[in-house]
Amino acid sequence: MNIPLLDLKRQYQSIKPEIDAAIQHVLESGRFILGPEVKAFEQEVAEYCGVKHAIGVASGTDALLLSLRALGIGSGDSARGITRDGNIPRAKVIIPSFTFFATAGVVHNVGATPVFADIDPKTFNLDPSNVRRILTTNHELRTKIKAIIPVHLYGQMADMDEIMSIAREYDIAVVEDAAQAIGAEYLPRAIPADKTISRGRKAGTIGNLGCFSFFPTKNLGAYGDGGMVITNDDELAERVRILRAHGSKPKYYHRMVGINSRLDALQAAILRVKLTHLSDWTTARQRVATRYDKMLHDVDGIETPYRATNRSHIFHQYTIRVKDGCRDALKQHFKEQGIGTSIYYPLPLHLQECFYELGYKEGDLRVSEEASREVLSLPMFPELAQEEQDYVIQQIRAFFEEETN
Ligand SMILES: *Cc1c(COP(=O)(O)O)cnc(C)c1O
Repeated sequence: MNIPLLDLKRQYQSIKPEIDAAIQHVLESGRFILGPEVKAFEQEVAEYCGVKHAIGVASGTDALLLSLRALGIGSGDSARGITRDGNIPRAKVIIPSFTFFATAGVVHNVGATPVFADIDPKTFNLDPSNVRRILTTNHELRTKIKAIIPVHLYGQMADMDEIMSIAREYDIAVVEDAAQAIGAEYLPRAIPADKTISRGRKAGTIGNLGCFSFFPTKNLGAYGDGGMVITNDDELAERVRILRAHGSKPKYYHRMVGINSRLDALQAAILRVKLTHLSDWTTARQRVATRYDKMLHDVDGIETPYRATNRSHIFHQYTIRVKDGCRDALKQHFKEQGIGTSIYYPLPLHLQECFYELGYKEGDLRVSEEASREVLSLPMFPELAQEEQDYVIQQIRAFFEEETN
């Protein structure tokens, strides 16, 4: 049996008439950049998340980059994006080492320096106690740190209560990298016993700004690149809006130097259709995850994903830990049996060659390093059939039974 890690063709087939009509509508409208489709999609995402502003941009990477720029971080820390004269120390931004490269790339690309923090071994997300340690051990470093970017990896939010309390204490901005977590919720810490659970706060709405990616493989994926910034802050929203169109306002007059980073009308129209299905798809992913949990929890040699009680998990990835150095052998076994798996991510960012000059070495962030040796993401998408899932489960069991015999 051939089982892909994910299958975008099945999803398209299930909504083809709606998508085709939406594309046709844009083609006939003659409006291809921003315009009414993008505006409507921005409003719908804002509503979905329960946030004041949503600004469509060209990618998740640009959403992060423009958020940092809107906060005035980088390039000598001038909001205009022009380096001031004189020797201005580069701003620093705390990010987890165990994440997709873009989180670090944008920090560098705005002219700031990433400070890598370790992760919580259970959630794979930024460890607040490690962030606090960075801020308390070195006074000079502390004064340069301007932002924290928690990443909600695999679809489960980071410990935002702790992170926000640290950020307030040290007066640091927070940009949520919610590229993998659109729709994930952070539930109120104390739920009164006589109350049914009130809805939590959505990923991206807790920090100063939140960022989404519509890369095709994300839970809400376009048919090309796309991204979005959300915020409740009027001023930051206005700055992101201006910065995504070369910094011009009014047109052809520039107070700031921006970039060209706009969401296409075609992608917005496609995403508007898909947004109406997102809750159902999330439920389907959660059902797949619960079944994996149930069928795999007793397998010696792996750990199924941890789910924090005060957060919902939208399972962008279903990522297990494979213990005792067996990860690569299990991956190979899956490959031979026609099952697609992936390693997100095989090398933590503090050990990437491009950041060599920052002076990190092996052993500096042990939890991230261990995760990169143990993680394996299994086939996960809403349309995954039960027989297919059973085959994956059966192959894991077969692998470990062979190991012990
Ligand atoms: C996908 C992703 C991004 C970047 O999004 P693009 O749309 O591909 O630019 C950033 N951070 C994380 C954690 C991601 O998964």
